[in-house]
Amino acid sequence: MATTTSDTLLEDLSIPHERNVPLGPLTWYGLGGSAEYLAHPSSVQQLSALAARCHETDTPVYVLGSGANLLVADRGVRGVVVQLDDPCFKQIKIEGTRVTSGAGYDLAKLVLDTARAGLAGLECLAGIPASVGGAVRMNAGGAFGCIGNAVRRVMVCDARGQVYYRSRDDLEFGYRRTNIVARYILDIEFELSPSGADGLMQRVKEIFRLKKSSQPLAEHSAGCVFKNPPPTPCSESEEPPPTAGQLIDRAGLKALRVGGAEVSSRHANFVVAHPGCTADDVLTLVGRVQSRVADRFGVKLEREIVVWP
Ligand SMILES: Cc1cc2nc3c(=O)[nH]c(=O)nc-3n(C[C@H](O)[C@H](O)[C@H](O)COP(=O)(O)OP(=O)(O)OC[C@H]3O[C@@H](n4cnc5c(N)ncnc54)[C@H](O)[C@@H]3O)c2cc1C
Repeated sequence: MATTTSDTLLEDLSIPHERNVPLGPLTWYGLGGSAEYLAHPSSVQQLSALAARCHETDTPVYVLGSGANLLVADRGVRGVVVQLDDPCFKQIKIEGTRVTSGAGYDLAKLVLDTARAGLAGLECLAGIPASVGGAVRMNAGGAFGCIGNAVRRVMVCDARGQVYYRSRDDLEFGYRRTNIVARYILDIEFELSPSGADGLMQRVKEIFRLKKSSQPLAEHSAGCVFKNPPPTPCSESEEPPPTAGQLIDRAGLKALRVGGAEVSSRHANFVVAHPGCTADDVLTLVGRVQSRVADRFGVKLEREIVVWP
């Protein structure tokens, strides 16, 4: 990767950072090249100054959560990758039914913290690997519910470094999307409801067991590669449309391989990475699956995973 960002980009801002950092180990796929800069701001003010600097200098910026929905290209990324891993972005506070979490906090921990505290609303997210900020950005969820249902307010920072709140009545959450356009999600307030801790913990275990039995959790992946297709407008059918996984399976693509990338035999919407796999292998396989499903069923599968750059 050619290094083109100025060597002094962050020099006067005192923001902890490293140069030329391989991003693979920071993602669930374990693939891809390096970031020119990996920055770890240690306050909201530092994050805001970093955002403003990158904006003024036209430097590309990316926000990294737990890397569970991410594929980094083999050539890596130019500019700055921001990781909200400082303790100041990992605080949580439980006050009655209101729970506030930093974006860098681990979602699995938050699910357990709130279930143990007898607060319902996040137990449906059991088994989803994520930072809380990444989960809100993607409106993570599934058959049991989505994180957006429980969000009351978010603190965000835009690309110019302006920090502000957005609250429930102006937030929209849809299928793996939100209307939050600000680049950085910093802090999230949830409104939960009281419930029995034992029942909630039981539910967490149940959902986790279900996921473990249907997903290749021990292999390198980024979860579902494609979004499920929406119902066709004007369709007369009462049946829900087939999921992306069902279409891939029906097209006979389970176990299809390109290099070290393979369509999982356990869950056809997962592409797993074997030793020696490259990000290019994954992208080529993803493209091949898209064109075979389009040829066979006339459905254009839309990617759910985020690809950098
Ligand atoms: C085994 C496995 C199972 C999975 N199962 C599910 C599932 O059941 N349901 C589901 O919805 N997903 C699932 N996923 C995908 C993934 O868990 C979710 O998409 C999750 O929300 C990603 O969060 P993250 O913190 O890892 O984000 P990352 O992968 O790090 O980033 C994803 C996107 O969010 C942005 N982002 C991250 N943090 C922030 C922030 N603080 N502010 C602004 N933008 C940010 C990134 O820039 C990027 O665009 C699965 C993944 C794996 C590996």
